[in-house]
Amino acid sequence: MRIQQTVACLLAVLLLLNIAAQAQKSAKPKADKNVPKYVCLMCKVGADKQGKCPICNLPMAKAGVYVCTECGAMADKKGDCPHCKKPMVKLSSLAKKCKVCGYYSDKNKKECPVCEYRKKMKSKKP
Ligand SMILES: [Zn+2]
Ligand SMILES: [Zn+2]
Ligand SMILES: [Zn+2]
Repeated sequence: MRIQQTVACLLAVLLLLNIAAQAQKSAKPKADKNVPKYVCLMCKVGADKQGKCPICNLPMAKAGVYVCTECGAMADKKGDCPHCKKPMVKLSSLAKKCKVCGYYSDKNKKECPVCEYRKKMKSKKP
């Protein structure tokens, strides 16, 4: 009986842990919805998928959770920038996804740099 009780108890704990893990999983993407997975540090644009930057055509780098607004250094943990010693800020608080092209950019910018660039390219062509 004792062993059975222990097993039942263990199962209950495992079940609870599983539920907790599932709850965490489903809650995470919601909080990080506004975060680009890849970024071009030169043009300050981001994307959901790995690929080349739509503006400068260089391969995009994997984005961190935190970013330094001074030099563009990225990190997964909160802290000061290793280069300029300034506190890093969350990337999600800076980025905004463009509804037209699907790329991310600085949310303080009025026009999306990717759309702006594409418009320029179009007007150049005869
Ligand atoms: Zn670029
Ligand atoms: Zn920095
Ligand atoms: Zn755009």
